Amino acid sequence: MPSREELKLRAFQEIDSKADEIVNLAKTILGHPEPGFRENKTSHLVATKFAEMGIPFRAGLALTGVRGELIGGTAGPALAILGELDSLIVNEHPMADAATGAAHACGHHCQIAMLLGTAMALSQPDILSALSGRLIFMAVPAEEYIEIEYRDDLRREGKLEFLGGKPELIRLGEFDDVDMSMMLHTTSVPEEKQLCISGTNNGTVAKRIEFIGRGAHAGGSPHLGINALNAATLALSAIHYNRETFRDADTVRVHPIITRGGDAVSAVPADVRMETFVRGRTIEAIMDANRKTDRALKAGALAVGANVKIQTIPGYMPLTQNKAMADIFRANSVDLVGEENVGHVAHRTGSTDMGDVSQLMPAIHPYVGGATGLGHGANYMVEDYNLAVVTATKALTSTTIDLLADGANQAGKVISGQRAEMTRDQYLTFMRQLASEETFRGTDP
Ligand SMILES: [Zn+2]
Ligand SMILES: [Zn+2]
Repeated sequence: MPSREELKLRAFQEIDSKADEIVNLAKTILGHPEPGFRENKTSHLVATKFAEMGIPFRAGLALTGVRGELIGGTAGPALAILGELDSLIVNEHPMADAATGAAHACGHHCQIAMLLGTAMALSQPDILSALSGRLIFMAVPAEEYIEIEYRDDLRREGKLEFLGGKPELIRLGEFDDVDMSMMLHTTSVPEEKQLCISGTNNGTVAKRIEFIGRGAHAGGSPHLGINALNAATLALSAIHYNRETFRDADTVRVHPIITRGGDAVSAVPADVRMETFVRGRTIEAIMDANRKTDRALKAGALAVGANVKIQTIPGYMPLTQNKAMADIFRANSVDLVGEENVGHVAHRTGSTDMGDVSQLMPAIHPYVGGATGLGHGANYMVEDYNLAVVTATKALTSTTIDLLADGANQAGKVISGQRAEMTRDQYLTFMRQLASEETFRGTDP
């Protein structure tokens, strides 16, 4: 049986020989960006590549997800390698789709290339036969939590229950036979260097809010109206007045936007809408800030005698990463790019649905450099494809080899060393009890 080092060398040869092909996959996806749950072309590309490699797969999971599976030479645990299919919508991005505004301003096109590159290397019979267990290659829909209204309509039509791809795949049971998961996200943050081990991420809930007032002539008879915009602006102030109660350690982020502010300047606004996320480092912190946000929304309505409809939608769980898996990834990172080029970040205040996966099993969500600009911004571009795709593919491949070679000895230690925070049923119960719709009547009796 070849050693782990021999297997890695062999895999790296394979990756180097296909480097152009793997990079071109990323560039192809960059050229046809698709937002979440509509990644039809990207999903089709993944399925085509799986078929070419002879990897059995199922497609159309949570609308656009694709799951391939390979079986090692001997039995063992299942490791999922994930890549996110979706783009953002950033109209000003130079690579934005002219019709939809979709753009890869978060580097997910590189993730799909890494996923396929890793599959190309690990599907080589001499490598695969030396591994124990199952390799699950999962192209997942809709990581970016956007287009809430569109997705909520899909939910009401019964096509989805949750508005993110991984929660939906968890619900569908696609993670039931998975023991551990990993993915690798691009970064443009210089301090994160070339490869970066990260710690935790905020979780989040999403909210849709409707202030309902009464229209009236804004000049002639405003006394007969109920101004829903005034209710909303008061609510925004009330949210701000609660910020001093958020503890620094909880890294709470509440960032509302007004998505509809009135229909005609000559009428008292009667229908004003907002959306917000409520993020925090722990579930308790999110729930605390969520209660305060609801109170603030009601206060705005009460003050002017309006009604407010508050819909709370489950978002993403806080992310925790498995230390033993992260240590293995880090060691491979040092081998690939040198100690001085490996970064570490303790906590990120954004959110990812890899957090949901991390509640159920050992998981890691490290970062790879190669991008410039601001994440989610019009200037976010992957410049160094060799790093962001080829080196990234090697990092995932070598970590897989460490976990599943030698009878999956290391994977066994990872799995036995972490007790899941939640079972799938507990997770689903928690997510479902987060969902609520309430109408608060601030109108005079
Ligand atoms: Zn993103
Ligand atoms: Zn992303």
